Amino acid sequence: MANWFEIPPGDPYFCVVGSPIAHSKSPDIHLAFGRQCGIALRYERIEVHARCFARALAEFVDAGGRGMSITVPLKEEAFRALSIHQPRAALTGAANMMTVAADGSTVADNADGTGLVRDLTDNHGLYLKGRRLLLLGAGGAARGVIPALLEEQPSELFIANRTLRKATDLVAQFHTLGPIGAFDYVDVPSRPYDLVINATSLSLSGEIPPLSADTIGSETCCYDMMYTADGHTRFLDWCRDNGAAACYDGLGMLVEQAANSFSIWHGVAPDTAPVIAALR
Ligand code: NDP
Repeated sequence: MANWFEIPPGDPYFCVVGSPIAHSKSPDIHLAFGRQCGIALRYERIEVHARCFARALAEFVDAGGRGMSITVPLKEEAFRALSIHQPRAALTGAANMMTVAADGSTVADNADGTGLVRDLTDNHGLYLKGRRLLLLGAGGAARGVIPALLEEQPSELFIANRTLRKATDLVAQFHTLGPIGAFDYVDVPSRPYDLVINATSLSLSGEIPPLSADTIGSETCCYDMMYTADGHTRFLDWCRDNGAAACYDGLGMLVEQAANSFSIWHGVAPDTAPVIAALR
């Protein structure tokens, strides 16, 4: 049987779990926040498969771990296995972080939506109230950010997805939170949007969603949740070629959701700008 956690006494222990996990930047981010805030901690990458999450969690708690970041493909499995659900996790049915409470209970939370909205508004200066938003994709990442986007009170949040049923399921789940609609790509109302967010996994393979160029205008900002070293993705290049006003990748989202987790775990809000700059 795998033995995931052997935690020596000393600094509080945190980790990121997922599969694959070798590429994760979470340790770099959390250790950089720790140095910045004068907080000593240990933070590691741990490969955990979905069928093993419950066992890994029990071992983590027994070994004295304090908190976990949770990434693909464990977010839904983790939500089910964790004992207490904060509202952001309960709304999305997914956990991207957990905290071990003093009594040993495990608290699920989801900082992905907060991370995206902070990156859009604080780092890129976008104002979402009254704006027309188009979200591409209806997988876990899209589900995780919809409540936070609707909280910003856009005039509409349209979801386009290859599998229409998954988008209509999201509309059924979230329609009480704000104006939201579902389309497949060919039926997306054809006009420029204020913000187009790519939450599909297509950028991972260098592909782009089959979106009409009419959705991009000279005032459209475009965001790809995937991130790269130089901030370029095939989707963002396509948006630029079609005249987008500004293009951003998802590195800031990653750092902002980590900052939100860090402040929950350590009670201090780190400065994200130098960490984003260092990761570039
Ligand atoms: P999922 O596997 O849950 O969802 C994938 C989505 O992509 C679905 O909507 C799927 O459509 C769509 N898709 C896949 N292949 C195609 C295709 N050939 N044509 C059209 N649509 C397609 O992935 P996640 O939601 O977990 O992740 C999506 C992206 O977000 C990834 O790139 C991930 O790295 C990124 N991400 C970034 C974060 C950050 O902090 N920056 C945080 C979380 C995620 P369908 O439903 O039809 O299958």
